[in-house]
Amino acid sequence: MVNLKGFDVSKERLESVIRSVEEATKAAGRTADSVNLIAVSKTFDETAIEPILAAGHRQFGENRVQESQKKWPTLKKVYPDAVLHLIGPLQSNKAADAVALFDVIHTVDRPKIAKALSVEIEKQNRSVEVFIQINTGKEDQKAGIYPEDADSFINECKQVHRLSVKGPMSIPPIDEDAGKHFKMLADIAARNELEFLSMGMSADYAEAIKHGATHIRVGSAVFGARTKPV
Ligand SMILES: *Cc1c(COP(=O)(O)O)cnc(C)c1O
Repeated sequence: MVNLKGFDVSKERLESVIRSVEEATKAAGRTADSVNLIAVSKTFDETAIEPILAAGHRQFGENRVQESQKKWPTLKKVYPDAVLHLIGPLQSNKAADAVALFDVIHTVDRPKIAKALSVEIEKQNRSVEVFIQINTGKEDQKAGIYPEDADSFINECKQVHRLSVKGPMSIPPIDEDAGKHFKMLADIAARNELEFLSMGMSADYAEAIKHGATHIRVGSAVFGARTKPV
């Protein structure tokens, strides 16, 4: 009861995002259930996340393994069917922890990580789906492999590391038209016969849906502006 106001506000934001996802899918001639809304809860604590779980939402994204280990085991006790997506950079010394906690990893971008994940998935007998992060804008500060290396790396992840590769993922440059990057990602998915596309954030998920996004990663539009550093 203490947090009733916060509850209503975040639940309303969630519902409003769900409505605009429905509109965007409809406009694109797609069904609403063809898009997974990942509520990105990075920097927000359990008291902010719980109302979204209570509202029935189950897909969540986090960008740090350590931060997730602090908050999610407690939440998972109450909501064991919550699905966790890792959307931030992963170091190979965190692969074991990531595999233990996350259901989907969106940021596989180099052979060393692919191998470390593959070893842990087998060791822990876990089923983890992965996305391959593509640096479509070739930005120095961003992770991800270059588009021209995508096909061979996707192939390596599937054939050598036996990962369950579901699709490509990208974060377009902020100062460019995102559509061009979404199209590039959709082309990579199509020619590699990958079923899913992880693209679109609070500012551009409608555009991403137009280009075929199946996994949109939406933070501030659901939780409000982040006040803690990422
Ligand atoms: C933080 C983050 C998001 C969500 O960003 P918003 O603009 O708050 O929707 C999506 N994807 C990645 C990789 C992120 O790090």
